[in-house]
Amino acid sequence: MVRFFNVDSLSKKYAYQSHYNFSENRVVDGRELEGLEAKLINENTIEWRVKVDNKLGYDYSKTLLKDAADILSQNGMKYNIINDPEAKFTLELSRPTMRIDPVTKEPVVTNGYTMNDGNTYDGKAVSKDNPRTLAHELGHKASLPHIFDEKSKLTNTEENKNNLMNSGDNNKKELRSSNGTELVPAQTNDMKSHIQKVYENKTKEKEIESKNNIPNDIN
Ligand SMILES: [Zn+2]
Repeated sequence: MVRFFNVDSLSKKYAYQSHYNFSENRVVDGRELEGLEAKLINENTIEWRVKVDNKLGYDYSKTLLKDAADILSQNGMKYNIINDPEAKFTLELSRPTMRIDPVTKEPVVTNGYTMNDGNTYDGKAVSKDNPRTLAHELGHKASLPHIFDEKSKLTNTEENKNNLMNSGDNNKKELRSSNGTELVPAQTNDMKSHIQKVYENKTKEKEIESKNNIPNDIN
């Protein structure tokens, strides 16, 4: 590990354009930019930092994050999900909720949900204490639609019934399932490129912000 002690002897004006400045002397803990909680740390590893907000009323499974990461780790991609109290991406753990569908009068159980799908930096996923549910919700956060959504690249057919992005809400009753954990390579690639794109866009935004905030005269 190398630290760049000389950076501060240069003008900060230029330091902000420097590659080294990204970590702002926080090289040691590996954090780069605040709030960019999902990122590629190399070609085949994604690190996703989450701040666990436990609303279960009891302790969640010790292996929840690892088990969810293992589900997402398919097709040559490896996920690390890390509980980080400083993370801006929130993982809210809560108990499933039940409501009665006004049309069918059948009970509908919600195991988890996401808002603002695609937001992998300071977003939020809500999940019950179950790795499959968590992996499914993170799939949404990294842009994956349900297999029965219009924009899905997969067909809503028997062969995809055990896909991670199937759910109990499938419009084809015979295909409803919320246990499958399969991901096809296209889904793995879509998650990866989405996370990378968000990271790059946000990094650029933050660089511009930083540059705009630099005083004109450091000395
Ligand atoms: Zn879903």
